[in-house]
Amino acid sequence: MTRKIAFYGKGGIGKSTTQQNTAAAMAHFHNKKVFIHGCDPKADSTRLILGGKPQQTLMDALREEGSEKVSNEDVIKTGFMGIRCVESGGPEPGVGCAGRGVITAIDLMEHNGAYTDDLDFLFYDVLGDVVCGGFAMPIRDGKAQEVYIVASGEMMAIYAANNICKGLLKYAKQSGVRLGGIICNSRKVDREKEFLEEFTAAIGTQMIHFVPRDNIVQKAEFNKKTVVEYNPEENQAKEYGELARKIIENQMFVIPKPLTMDELEKMVVKYGIAD
Ligand code: ADP
Ligand code: MG
Repeated sequence: MTRKIAFYGKGGIGKSTTQQNTAAAMAHFHNKKVFIHGCDPKADSTRLILGGKPQQTLMDALREEGSEKVSNEDVIKTGFMGIRCVESGGPEPGVGCAGRGVITAIDLMEHNGAYTDDLDFLFYDVLGDVVCGGFAMPIRDGKAQEVYIVASGEMMAIYAANNICKGLLKYAKQSGVRLGGIICNSRKVDREKEFLEEFTAAIGTQMIHFVPRDNIVQKAEFNKKTVVEYNPEENQAKEYGELARKIIENQMFVIPKPLTMDELEKMVVKYGIAD
């Protein structure tokens, strides 16, 4: 059985970075077979796995060849440790709905049998904190069964996480989607861990892992690699290994109970944080 996972969270919080490092750690440290489907029109969900090679996106291929002719070989690339990657891409800027592209891309991959049964994990890397239209599709239509929200102790990241929980709550019944936890991708905010622990407990989930902020991430990125590939001996690589292990062993899947604005404001005031 392939576990289908989507990462959500505020734009720039570290979804794509964390996801690629987690996927790399799953393959490298835990011997898992992984597929990453990038659903961000920026098409930057898989470049650390593919060594920065620009990839023809599914929407590009569709525009050039038409849907009958697009084969898996055209759009699926294999990178570090055999991880398979596809990018949905998007419409030409200003033309058409990017969310619609996400639906088309996932449907086409399913139709073409791209998500083979030997996969342990399929990751959807979704754009920002958008839980509307096509970007909600992985959770709305049951394409992803598990969601992890990437957040930090910054106020806007917590607001976004709470909003995503509202979306999950809305779709959980019809699609069966569940929240597996919140990943704290640290911004070195005061009392960050405590705040995230209180917030996650309040909405009925867990802080599955605290990922430290470390410049090795940028250094590896500059070399077009995940930290796991760049240097698996680094502490940061081991942190991603831990996050990967916790996701592999996770048993806690919930329908979250988002906070009201009032409750959220109170918690923010208590921790005295600002964005
Ligand atoms: P998103 O996909 O959520 O928009 P990205 O994964 O593109 O965000 O992350 C934005 C930037 O943050 C990346 O370019 C990366 O260099 C940096 N970053 C993410 N996580 C960490 C971390 N744990 N330590 C240091 N830098 C990080
Ligand atoms: Mg991203």
